Amino acid sequence: MSKRYLWFLSLAALILSSLCLTSCRHNKKYRIAVSQCSDDDWRKKMNNEINREILFHEDAEVEIRSADDSNSKQIEDIEYFINNKFDAIIVAPNEAEALTPVISKAYENGIPVIIFDRNINGESYTARIGADDVALGMQAAKYALNTLPNAPKALEICGLPGSTPALGRHNGFTDEFIRNGGQIRASVPANWNQDMAEKVTDSLLNIYKDIDVIFAHNDRMAIGAYEMAGKHNLHNVKIIGIDAAPEIGIQAVADGKIDATFLYPTEGHRVIQTALDILKGKPYQRVSILPASSPVDKSNADILLLQNESLIEETNHMVELKNSIDQYWAQHSSQTLLFYAAVVIIVLLGGVFFLLLRAFWQHRRYQVELMEQNRLLQEQRDKQKELNEKLQEATQSKIAFFTNVSHDLRTPLTLISGPVEQLVTATNLSPMQSTLMRIADKNVKILKRLINQILDFRKYENGQLKMHLEEADFGMLIKEWMEAFHSLARKRNLKFRLIAPQHPAVSLAFDVEKIERVVFNLLSNAFKYTPDNGEVTVAYNYDDKDLTLTVTDTGEGISERDLGSIFDRFYQVDRVHPNGSGIGLSLAKAFVELHEGTISVESALGKGSVFTVTIPIQHVESTAATHVSPLIDSREVESELGDVTDDTQFEKDLPVVLIVDDNPDIQILVGNLLEKKYNIITAANGKEGVKMATKYVPDLVICDVMMPVMDGLECCRRIKDEVTTSHIPVLMLTACSMDEQRVQGYDSGADGYLSKPFSSEVLLARCNSLLENRKRISRLYDSTAIKSAPDADRQEKSRALPKGDIDNDFYRRFLEIFEKEMGNPEMNVDAISSRMGLERSQFYRKIKALTNYSPVELMRNIRLRRGHELLLKTDKSISEIAYETGFSTPAYFTKCYRDAYGETPSEVRAKNGR
Ligand code: ADP
Repeated sequence: MSKRYLWFLSLAALILSSLCLTSCRHNKKYRIAVSQCSDDDWRKKMNNEINREILFHEDAEVEIRSADDSNSKQIEDIEYFINNKFDAIIVAPNEAEALTPVISKAYENGIPVIIFDRNINGESYTARIGADDVALGMQAAKYALNTLPNAPKALEICGLPGSTPALGRHNGFTDEFIRNGGQIRASVPANWNQDMAEKVTDSLLNIYKDIDVIFAHNDRMAIGAYEMAGKHNLHNVKIIGIDAAPEIGIQAVADGKIDATFLYPTEGHRVIQTALDILKGKPYQRVSILPASSPVDKSNADILLLQNESLIEETNHMVELKNSIDQYWAQHSSQTLLFYAAVVIIVLLGGVFFLLLRAFWQHRRYQVELMEQNRLLQEQRDKQKELNEKLQEATQSKIAFFTNVSHDLRTPLTLISGPVEQLVTATNLSPMQSTLMRIADKNVKILKRLINQILDFRKYENGQLKMHLEEADFGMLIKEWMEAFHSLARKRNLKFRLIAPQHPAVSLAFDVEKIERVVFNLLSNAFKYTPDNGEVTVAYNYDDKDLTLTVTDTGEGISERDLGSIFDRFYQVDRVHPNGSGIGLSLAKAFVELHEGTISVESALGKGSVFTVTIPIQHVESTAATHVSPLIDSREVESELGDVTDDTQFEKDLPVVLIVDDNPDIQILVGNLLEKKYNIITAANGKEGVKMATKYVPDLVICDVMMPVMDGLECCRRIKDEVTTSHIPVLMLTACSMDEQRVQGYDSGADGYLSKPFSSEVLLARCNSLLENRKRISRLYDSTAIKSAPDADRQEKSRALPKGDIDNDFYRRFLEIFEKEMGNPEMNVDAISSRMGLERSQFYRKIKALTNYSPVELMRNIRLRRGHELLLKTDKSISEIAYETGFSTPAYFTKCYRDAYGETPSEVRAKNGR
């Protein structure tokens, strides 16, 4: 998946998760537990208040449990709250004694504990909210005392003994009542319970008939007391209760059942508020005791009931409001979620749309580009097709032209070849005539073969090439065909062998002449492209279906680039130095394909080649195997592929000409033209040419420009750069007559340029003039010639030869060395040539070419000239002068001096008066 899509997915995930966070924002946080000890009206009222209060706190929820006046049930409830890890516990303990341990446990577990209504033993709570029960008891006593005559008598129906409100109310009431002259006939517990209160009151009223007032610790017990007072016809007994719960206590006052009740504050909202303050770490009051209120009696009971009703109504209204708010909130949340989801979807859709759009445009662009490329390709194809057609046409017309010309050429050629063949075998020819005839014969044969090949090829293309199938033994024929190449193989030291199968005879029907030409072409190519000392191997094998022939050579091989094309007509690997016509292999392929066979090649540059021919074995039933005599003649092979040059010996007095040309025929032709006047040596390429020039130091080099290994320009440059050969004039021969080539030729130091074809006269004239030129130059160095240069001016002149020229520098160096050591009789030609870094023969030819003197003559002349000067300018004795100038004896000096100057040294001295 691409990075772009990943980016989109992660964006969507991010948006969705933030949406989740937003929608989960209103999760409840605080869980508050409420444990009520019983389930009476007062507690119901309180629970309503708690539930109402919690409506205002989004971050809190409450669970209320009632113990139905049972200690064990309440302990169980509180354990449940502890185990379920409630955040705060609000408890109204049933009995202090029983519940203190479990409440302490919750407190010690770190759960904030708020005690309300009743108390526990000790201080194991976080906060406590309670009413002032003593004050409540006192208020009740005061009310009774105010509404009754002096010294009233009272019964007290108490709450659960051990519960703190019962205790407080009892104390407050009895203290106040007795202190103000009242009498308490009895205080009996009825455990907050109406039935029990009825029973207790009933039995008490049986005993005490003079009772003025009954004080019950709560309204239910008060109602029970009222019932019993009625039963005992004590209608004037005042009944006082506590709690003032609307449906029970206040209603009983309004109904006239009890005379007064005192509000015992429920304060449900306060306990919740305190719990949340504790949980949120806000300040709170640890112990809050609510003050006692004024009595509810006949005068205000109805109003209070009405208020209560409207409160209930308000509460219901609030609950409804709250529900609808919750509903709206839920709606809001889901709508927000929907909104964000819609935003995400729109963003994603936008992204997808953008990507689609981009992909669409890219696709469009690619399509346009592709169409453009297609158009260009189509154009190229059309052009190519047109070119191909033109090429085809050109090839066809070329072939047609060749065919026509070939037809025209064949007759005169046949007329030439006959006489030439006869002349070749003639015995009365001079060696040179016979060589020339062999060249003519060879080239006539090549031309004839070429013309036949072109005509055959044309016939093949026109489907006119006829097959002359005959049954023949291939094994025998191949041996005979190979025979023709053996002598050439020997001459060139090529290992040439046949690998035949175990049963060499294999008879099959084939066009013997055509297959012979295939074999001839493969073998002559193998010989042509394999250097001396290489290997050419012919192998054949056969099975039921095919005959396979391979011709393997260790020659130069064919590059991969050319491999695919060598069977194409007129294809030649080396177009610069063509060594054939490029038609042989394509015709071989045509012949093989006429036999429904195949021809293929495997080769690599420098690794030789393997040509494989496969011909299906078929038989001509009627014809018996015939022996067909081979057409290939070994003389033909040798004359076509062999080397007809002989090593030439120098004839002493003639100048030496080095002919550098890769074409042996040209070497022979030029050699024959020049051989009367020159000694001829030859080289087949530039590299060999440089070698020969250095070895023999010829007087003239005639050099072809286009040659393998090293071309003529490079060869000329090297000759001119080498001290040994720098003086040799070079005449370039080339088929090109372009000025640019001439410039290149002259740049490389060539002294002359001759375009092919050239006439023998022109060649001779050019050679002559170059050699004459050379002689003229040599006169410049001729400062030592005794007769022509008797004075020191000529010597100075030679010293003043321009520097930087290799020959001048060479000659100057020679003079320096020799003149310095002239007196040394050891200073002979050997010594000075090795000082000059040349071999004796090279030094000889160099000095001779430069000065026209041999080194011995030159050195003697220099000695004599110095001697001459010394005779004229000094008083040194003749023998002193003779030794100083390097003559072995004064007598020899005298002889040489007389030979050179026509007088003896003593005569010169006498003449000059010395
Ligand atoms: P050609 O008459 O020029 O030899 P062919 O059609 O016989 O023409 O051969 C085509 C080309 O294939 C040649 O120019 C030559 O470069 C290459 N070739 C043929 N045989 C061999 C071989 N045995 N080794 C190397 N190159 C070869």
